Amino acid sequence: MSLPVNFHFSQASLADYVDCPRRFQLRYLLEQAWPAVESEPLLERERLAELGRRFHKLIQQHVEGLPSDVLTPSSSEPELTRWWQNYLASLTAMLSDLPADRRAEVALSIPLKTYRLTAHFDLIATTTDRAVIVDWKTEQRQPTREQLLKRMQTRVYRYVLAVAQQRPPGTVSMIYWFAHYPDQPIALPYDAAQHADDHQFLTTLIEEIEQRAQQDGEWEMTLQERKCAYCVYRSLCQRGVQAGTLTAAEDDLDLVAQITFEAVDAIEY
Ligand code: SF4
Repeated sequence: MSLPVNFHFSQASLADYVDCPRRFQLRYLLEQAWPAVESEPLLERERLAELGRRFHKLIQQHVEGLPSDVLTPSSSEPELTRWWQNYLASLTAMLSDLPADRRAEVALSIPLKTYRLTAHFDLIATTTDRAVIVDWKTEQRQPTREQLLKRMQTRVYRYVLAVAQQRPPGTVSMIYWFAHYPDQPIALPYDAAQHADDHQFLTTLIEEIEQRAQQDGEWEMTLQERKCAYCVYRSLCQRGVQAGTLTAAEDDLDLVAQITFEAVDAIEY
C-alpha cells in the first residue's frame, strides 16, 4: 500500500491520523465503509447534525446577500432560532469589524510535497492587508484558547490561507464564534513563528504517514480507547459494539472535536 501522489489531506484526515493511525488507514487508504454510528442516541445526533448544517447554510445565504428577515427559522425550532438571533446580534459587534470582502463556504487547496492540503472555510473576510477566517461552532462547551490553538483545524486553516493567498502570516487571523457563547468569540492571531512551526509540523506529519503507507500490515490502533466508542470502526477493531453517548462526549473536548456537526459543502476556488 502506498499513498497516492495526489492524495488530498485535510484537517479532518490529519486529525484522524493523530487520533488513531488505524482509523486513517481504514477511512482514507482502504476506504472501508462500516455500518456503525459514531454516537448515541442516533436521532439526537442526526438532529444536531441537521441543525448545524442548517445554521451554517443560513449564515452562508446571509453573507451572500439575502436579508435576515427572509432567512428567519420557524418558531418551532427554538434552538436554531436562538443561534440565529445570537449570530445577528453579533453582527453589530465582532462581525461588523470584519473586512468587507466576505465569502462563505470556501475551499482552498495548496500543494504540500506531492500532495494537496485542503481547508474548507465557513467564512473568509479579506482586504489586501488583512484576512480573517471565521468558524461557526455549535458545540455546547467552549474550549479554551490554548485548546483551540492545538486543534488541527486551527493549524491547517491559518497555514493554508497564508500560503494560498501568499500573505504574510501576520496579516492572517482566525476567530472561533460559538452559538452558545455569542459574546465570547476567541480570536487567534497568526505570525511568522507559528507559520514556520505549522509548516514543520504538517510536513513531518505527512512524511510520517507517507513512510507508514510504504509498509505492509495494519497501522497502530490508538491507546486512548475512549475514542473508539465514538468511531465507526469499533466492532471491526474489536473495541466494543455500543456507541458512546453524546452526553458523555460533551465533557471531553477531544471527543467533541472528533464528533463534528458542522459539515457543509464548500465551494471550490
Ligand atoms: S475503533 Fe479505535 S482503534 Fe479502531 S480505528 Fe477507531 S479509534 Fe482506531
